[in-house]
Amino acid sequence: MSNPINSKTPMDKSNLTCPYCQSLKIMRHGFSVRKSGEKLQRYWCNECDRTFTLKNA
Ligand SMILES: [Zn+2]
Repeated sequence: MSNPINSKTPMDKSNLTCPYCQSLKIMRHGFSVRKSGEKLQRYWCNECDRTFTLKNA
């Protein structure tokens, strides 16, 4: 049985979209590290062939 409490907070990232074309066809593309040491997940859009980072609080 699955836990109904956990199931109400899904951790999947299926709602990520490309900021340029809103495509859902994005893939992880390594990390981008800022001077401050902040590590950002970098993504690549399979639709418009751009890379971008999303600041995930
Ligand atoms: Zn795109």
